Amino acid sequence: MTTKIINIVDQREASSKSVTSSTSAHTPFFSDTRGRVLRDLRISVTDRCNFRCTYCMPKSVFGKDYLFLPQTDLLNFDEITRMATLFAAHGVEKIRLTGGEPLLRKNIDVLIQMLSTIKTIDDKPLDIALTTNASLLFKKAQVLKDAGLNRVTVSLDSLDETTFCAMNDVDYSVAEVLKGIEAAHKVGFKSIKINMVVQKGVNDKDVVAMARHFKGSGHIVRFIEFMDVGSSNGWCMDDVVPSAEIVHMINAEMPIVEAKSNYTGEVAERWTYADGSGEIGVISSVTQAFCSSCNRTRLSTDGKLYTCLFSQSGHDLRVLMRSGKSDKEIADAVGLIWSQRDDQYSEIRTEETARMKKVEMSYIGG
Ligand code: SAM
Ligand code: SF4
Ligand code: SF4
Repeated sequence: MTTKIINIVDQREASSKSVTSSTSAHTPFFSDTRGRVLRDLRISVTDRCNFRCTYCMPKSVFGKDYLFLPQTDLLNFDEITRMATLFAAHGVEKIRLTGGEPLLRKNIDVLIQMLSTIKTIDDKPLDIALTTNASLLFKKAQVLKDAGLNRVTVSLDSLDETTFCAMNDVDYSVAEVLKGIEAAHKVGFKSIKINMVVQKGVNDKDVVAMARHFKGSGHIVRFIEFMDVGSSNGWCMDDVVPSAEIVHMINAEMPIVEAKSNYTGEVAERWTYADGSGEIGVISSVTQAFCSSCNRTRLSTDGKLYTCLFSQSGHDLRVLMRSGKSDKEIADAVGLIWSQRDDQYSEIRTEETARMKKVEMSYIGG
């Protein structure tokens, strides 16, 4: 087997990783070192956001002087589509557009249209999802649906106006987010997911109200444990509300029963209401790590590949694209990166690892 070296350097982090490429053709990516097969690609289409959620982009760090990526650093739509096509040709079945706030990216519907023509290795259409704070969803729901977006996840951390405004830190109102969810529902998005990041002493009092509000609506609330992503949010273990407590709180008011996962690698643990009126999910990244089935990778706004949400550096695919490498050369490099992957951050998390410098979630995508 012939091999050659492609040096993939993460200039942003000033750390480099040498990658030896193999000559494999268009076949599914090999498993990583723990037998995990790549299926899910998350693409951050912008590192900017109009919210300043205190757990993600706190104003103290992401203030007026914060330097976001210049336009020329962003992957353009052709580059994103090229990467999505290449990943789909090697086993990826799902793509999630995220950020930052993905609906801030100009003409995002055009990108979705481009992605919607891509086929998986089983010749099925790619499943295209998007996570949004919903501030532009009311305006864009129809155009997103028409472009071929399959699924929408909306972030909403509380139904209590004061709490929600304090958490998004830009005084954005609950009613506007609900309007966005309603618009998405009206244009035909099914099983809309609502993400609520739960922080002790901040919005844990609002868990039951959130579950009750969406019970019977067809939408699925997912309660997410507060994570130590990035290096800006001042995370500490004491601020985490374990999912087991959330399940307990909801079950005490509205009985729920654990349900089977829909597919291997599903991050949310599913619970259905005993009266048959829908389901909720809990994402226990901190208290019950699910690294052993993690089949996700992330492409940053400027085209770096991160094989774990808690990575410290990424592999620069943009430099490969812009230096004229062929699809096969890039696919070989990605295949090798994946085959060497041994990520298991959540399984080994300590207060010390939480303090390590890691990339920000708004840059690599949630
Ligand atoms: N701006 C979009 C939004 O908020 O939906 C998409 C990007 S956001 C980074 C993606 C998801 O990550 C959101 O649901 C958000 O609540 C979640 N998130 C951000 N920081 C988090 C943290 N520290 N712990 C857990 N979830 C977090
Ligand atoms: Fe923006 Fe989403 Fe992060 Fe909130 S969670 S600051 S909406 S990117
Ligand atoms: Fe996957 Fe990394 Fe999260 Fe583990 S910590 S589930 S490897 S992204």
